[in-house]
Amino acid sequence: MCSVYTVTRSSLLVLSGYNRACNEKRKPYQMAEDEPPGASLKPLVFRVDETTPEVVQSVLLERGWSKFDQQEQNMEDWNLYWRTSSFRMAEHVNVKPWQCLNHHPGTTRLTRKDLLAKHLQHMERLYGAPLYEFLPPTFVMPHDYSKFVAEYFKEKQVLDAKLSYWICKPAELSRGRGIIIFSDIKNLIFADTCIIQKYICNPLLVGRYKCDLRVYVCVTGFKPLTIYIYQEGLVRFATEKFDLGNLQNSYAHLTNSSINRSGASYEKIKEVVGSGCKWTLTRFFSYLRSWDVDDLLLWQKINRVVILTVLAIAPSVPFAANCFELLGFDILIDDNLKPWLLEVNYSPGLSLDCSADVSVKRRLIHDTIELMHLHSLRNERKESCSAANGSPGVSLARKDRGRGRDLPHESFSQPGSRRAFSKDGTPGEKGVTACPENQHTCQPQAVLSRQEVRPPTREPPKAKPKARARHLALKTLIPRVSLIQAHGREKGLSLCVQPDSSWVPGPQAGNFVLIFPFNEATFGASRNGLNVRRIIQELQKLTHKQCSQAAEEKTKRK
Ligand code: ADP
Repeated sequence: MCSVYTVTRSSLLVLSGYNRACNEKRKPYQMAEDEPPGASLKPLVFRVDETTPEVVQSVLLERGWSKFDQQEQNMEDWNLYWRTSSFRMAEHVNVKPWQCLNHHPGTTRLTRKDLLAKHLQHMERLYGAPLYEFLPPTFVMPHDYSKFVAEYFKEKQVLDAKLSYWICKPAELSRGRGIIIFSDIKNLIFADTCIIQKYICNPLLVGRYKCDLRVYVCVTGFKPLTIYIYQEGLVRFATEKFDLGNLQNSYAHLTNSSINRSGASYEKIKEVVGSGCKWTLTRFFSYLRSWDVDDLLLWQKINRVVILTVLAIAPSVPFAANCFELLGFDILIDDNLKPWLLEVNYSPGLSLDCSADVSVKRRLIHDTIELMHLHSLRNERKESCSAANGSPGVSLARKDRGRGRDLPHESFSQPGSRRAFSKDGTPGEKGVTACPENQHTCQPQAVLSRQEVRPPTREPPKAKPKARARHLALKTLIPRVSLIQAHGREKGLSLCVQPDSSWVPGPQAGNFVLIFPFNEATFGASRNGLNVRRIIQELQKLTHKQCSQAAEEKTKRK
């Protein structure tokens, strides 16, 4: 089977010397970069089902991938299987080294509202309530019914004549379906498993409209725990003015775009918000800055919410190789600028309904693919290092790159010359100089440290290689090659250039930035088992530092 390509730079790189899930009968090919694209080379292969989002398919095709064809190809000849629903454990167990799945087993612990509440409450019991107070007080029904009733009447007494507000959400539904908001317990009706949660009745309003943030997070592994946050995202608006006097009005209280798109005010030009019901995070943060809000501190708090949330399930998630999980965190900001976690979405919606969707989601998928490459490269480098240390097996990565030199170790695993961050999570000097064009890219601490982190603003600079390896000749046939071998040098993969011109992957792929581990201590505490207590201590230290830095700067500004 021969494919026809539009020769973009990325497809050229695919074509110019990288094999992938290929036909074993094919002739060995020469891996010469300057060779013209030839019919003997095949693009990477993605597998879909009827639930795979359109944008995922179009981005992959744009990047030079081809779609798996069950009639024409062997069952194992694909590199990435992307679908909306989860995979069976057997599918995870049988995944081949050149394949990757877009879900990790066990993540519904985060994405089912009742399970999320249970896990976060468990962490609260272990490590203290203040740490997890970003989750609004939550009761899982029917189990916690009497606890809820007790709390409801207690609050009623305290508030006296004032009303208290609650929201009831089905545990397994999404898109605002089945939600009721109430202040009188008489209006509470529920059938299946659901949660009752304190309704945040002082949301930060833009114009006079409620909004929440959709923050994208990619967990590339739970063992060891590795979390990336996406520095761009969406802000979703209600399309009618916020009004606690009318709790029945979904267009004023729910920010789901599936609801607001069908509202009468969707197209209207709304105060500050404009028409439609979405902004990009970039626009939102610059709006906050115009009000003199410390958007950086807010972003750091959001990062912390994400880490603590994923940390709650990490010890109980089974190990699985070659998979990742792209999650959508729904965060509501109140008028004290406190972020609240509303829920975590499994397979966050990827439909392109407006210009904000198009600009965020297409790039998100591109960057997710970049991140996969980056992650595979890290794994293969680890393999190559252990092979060098006498472990059995051949490192395909080393063979493939064939640059006549050992591959460098991960920058953050070397506390010496390639240290990317210091022990307390502040920028390591050497890390900065090692990657002058791309400081943010090089430093894991960048996400959490005050100096380095910027909420979404612009495209991160891409590091340019100082020297390119010219002869990538691969004389041996490797029948199936993993993603990174095929794409390791594809455009956009964020690689830092070390002084010796070796390629070292930085902890950033496009707009994805590594937020965990964020310093040497958390790196150590997440290898060979997860030392949650230690990680929480480090997080607390960092939060303390960030808050005092923010306070100092505020004083200086005054
Ligand atoms: P779904 O999965 O149905 O979208 P969410 O938990 O995301 O459920 O809730 C839908 C919307 O309801 C949110 O986007 C937000 O606007 C609103 N909402 C949910 N929980 C709360 C809460 N505790 N306080 C205030 N608003 C909430």
